[in-house]
Amino acid sequence: MSIQVFGMPVSRGVAIGRAMLVASSRVDVAHYYVPAERAEHEIQRLRQARDAVAAEIGALQRDLPAEAPAEISALLDVHLMLLHDDALILATKHWIVERHYNAEWALSAQLEVLARQFDEMEDDYLRERKADLEQVVERLLRHMAHDGDVAPSLSAQARDFAGEDPLVLVANDVAPADMLHFKGSVFTGFVTEVGGRTSHTAIVARSLDIPAVVGAREASRLIRQDDWVVIDGDAGVVIVNPSAIVLEEYRFRQRQSELERARLNRLRHTPAVTLDGEAIELLANIELPDDAPTAVTSGAVGVGLFRSEFLFMNRAGDLPDEDEQFEAYRAAVLAMGGLPVTIRTVDIGADKPLERMSVSELRHEHQLNPALGLRAIRWSLAEPSMFRQQLRALLRASAFGKLRILFPMVAHVSEIRATLEALARARTQLDEAGRAYGPVELGAMIEVPAAALMIDQFLTHFDFVSIGTNDLIQYTLAIDRADEAVSHLYDPWHPAVLHLIEHTIRRANAAGKSVCVCGEMAGDPAFTDLLLAMGLRSFSMHPSRVASVKQRVLRADTRRLAAGVARVLGAESPSAEAALAFAGSVPN
Ligand code: PEP
Ligand code: MG
Repeated sequence: MSIQVFGMPVSRGVAIGRAMLVASSRVDVAHYYVPAERAEHEIQRLRQARDAVAAEIGALQRDLPAEAPAEISALLDVHLMLLHDDALILATKHWIVERHYNAEWALSAQLEVLARQFDEMEDDYLRERKADLEQVVERLLRHMAHDGDVAPSLSAQARDFAGEDPLVLVANDVAPADMLHFKGSVFTGFVTEVGGRTSHTAIVARSLDIPAVVGAREASRLIRQDDWVVIDGDAGVVIVNPSAIVLEEYRFRQRQSELERARLNRLRHTPAVTLDGEAIELLANIELPDDAPTAVTSGAVGVGLFRSEFLFMNRAGDLPDEDEQFEAYRAAVLAMGGLPVTIRTVDIGADKPLERMSVSELRHEHQLNPALGLRAIRWSLAEPSMFRQQLRALLRASAFGKLRILFPMVAHVSEIRATLEALARARTQLDEAGRAYGPVELGAMIEVPAAALMIDQFLTHFDFVSIGTNDLIQYTLAIDRADEAVSHLYDPWHPAVLHLIEHTIRRANAAGKSVCVCGEMAGDPAFTDLLLAMGLRSFSMHPSRVASVKQRVLRADTRRLAAGVARVLGAESPSAEAALAFAGSVPN
């Protein structure tokens, strides 16, 4: 029977595929296809891991002190029994042979099937054995992670398995850093149970440009491993086991959106100029230097936001040193071929914690409210040597192209002073070491209401500002952007938010300083006219959004639009009313 699961749309389009349920702790397990001739090798890896774990458990049993409670030995027996159970190993082989999954992926897939069976057991004792099974699988995965096997390149997988059923990932949650693993991966869509529309996980999902729904609370309960599902990324709905008619309708929509995409693509090389001749700068948001080529092909005329914190994630606390960072920043600058690149210093904290090992993560765990805690520039100023290391790497990379440094979440003038002092010290250190560096422009993210209200003072210290609407909305409305329970209150149309944005743009323009919007509003064509009307001439967004926003720009007449701003700002109730008031002033 077909059922629907509702969540929030975060990345547009339609994905159709078989569900792949993955527990949050295992999303970073390697997922790749193996050709038939390699299946035996994968089975061998599985066997070796099983033998190693059996030996490990055997040794634990042998070394148990005589006074150890009998339950411990019994528990280890259970682990051994689970390890040798056909339901685990034989069935895992099936995933390898029939579905061509690598051993880790096959094992995780089988674990999800068995975990579901355990959940449904009536007997409490048996139900609780699920935790034991998970521990056994974790041990097996750990062994396989160190057996020296190397995953083939992603492009090779796509070539070899173009005929396989497409897959859709269903998880309780996926951390932003784990989401990065899925770049160019086998999944054609994502569903998560938690998360908000502008959580960093959602932003990375959008950057992968594949349909996604977050906050679908019932997903893992209602969707089973291998079910056929349709993700409607525009409506935020997941349809499980769709009927033939529904499936056909979605396939039709899929084809339509591909055609639309191809049509928009043709705008790539068209300059973004409004009907009344205003040139608009459309920039790209990227997470890693490897994203720069996509930014160029999207038609973006530079990078408006490189979220450098992604270089610091997925590394088990082993943070990149100055040289490694320098190489990454230089790679981004060179890949953009002379176009400007704005690199934001690390925005660690809130929903992007570092791995467990680091000192900061330990601190993070003790924060009562990470979104209001030691995050972004606060974190950098609390880790002065790491901050200077990043600044030195950025300064060095600026010798290779047009680099601009952006500081996140600044709220106090004292933070600006401390930041500029750190930069001065970083320059002195480079001078002393005889290292070359180039000129850089400096900018502040305006993403805390305090910064928007203090914009005049802030502008005296910076060359440019960039409005981070994702956080500006979060902090103005006191809504945790990653919490689906309050996501209905996360409203970009709220007049308080619009007032702060308008004020920032107007004051920056008056001061002759450049101002950009780099939050998700910049990439949403529903806001293009309004932002243009407010005087914004620079937008930074995910590369996949550039063409749609450009289409909007090409149809806009900023002189006619400007009159609508006062009406929108004056609207008491936001959302629909404000949108309508504004639409009334739009010429077409
Ligand atoms: C923002 O807050 O709008 C922004 C662009 O930064 P991030 O989404 O990385 O917090
Ligand atoms: Mg932000």
